[in-house]
Amino acid sequence: MFITVENLKKSYRAGENKNEVLRGVSLTLEGGRIGVILGPSGSGKSTLMNIIGGVDRADGGSVRVGGEELTALSDDRLTDYRRDSVGFIFQFYNLVPNLTVTENIEVVSNISKAPLDMDMVLNAVGLKAKKRSFPRELSGGEQQRAAIARAIVKNPKLLLCDEPTGALDYETSRGVLSLLQKVNRDFGTTVLMITHNTAIGNMANVVYRLRGGEIVETIRHEETAAAERIEW
Ligand code: ADP
Repeated sequence: MFITVENLKKSYRAGENKNEVLRGVSLTLEGGRIGVILGPSGSGKSTLMNIIGGVDRADGGSVRVGGEELTALSDDRLTDYRRDSVGFIFQFYNLVPNLTVTENIEVVSNISKAPLDMDMVLNAVGLKAKKRSFPRELSGGEQQRAAIARAIVKNPKLLLCDEPTGALDYETSRGVLSLLQKVNRDFGTTVLMITHNTAIGNMANVVYRLRGGEIVETIRHEETAAAERIEW
């Protein structure tokens, strides 16, 4: 297994009380697959993803990614893991406004051990013609494509996407999901994506339904749907 999460626990302190956000979550995902975490707002999706991405730490349990036990890593090693192995994509793109598309991608490629070729990445996301544009000159879908380019240029083993289509219209969403599917297929990148849109689960090899900090159902698909064919 590429990702193995076992009995993961996380709480936040709320005054006198303890808010148990993850109550013993276990999941596995094979390398090169697409996993979707489905659940209502507040169910712990982002917290789970942040721990798998090495942004946050668990209180208990185990998280292994690509053979590394994240809970055992020092802060420095966890930073290395995050920088070398994980690409992040968020709902609101998080591009640097006063840098062009190329420069935004270079922010990451310049500190990567073995970055992918810039033109190849720009081609892959369909932004070669916009490489000198600033984020404000791009549509939402194009900004998300630039964010995807920035995430994949370091050729991460794992791509974590937190509501990547949350701010996009229907057609643009399907284009972005299709691009994520293409990245998964062409680069073999393992993709883990958060959504509250049940239909998006159809493009995943595995769907984990999270509720109240627990996985209430895991659905494995023999066949996955092409993103262009998903309707909601
Ligand atoms: P989801 O992504 O499913 O919407 P989150 O993982 O963001 O859920 O949040 C789950 C719960 O954890 C929420 O009740 C939220 O308020 C709480 N929470 C998340 N991050 C923090 C934090 N840094 N400090 C305190 N509470 C937090």
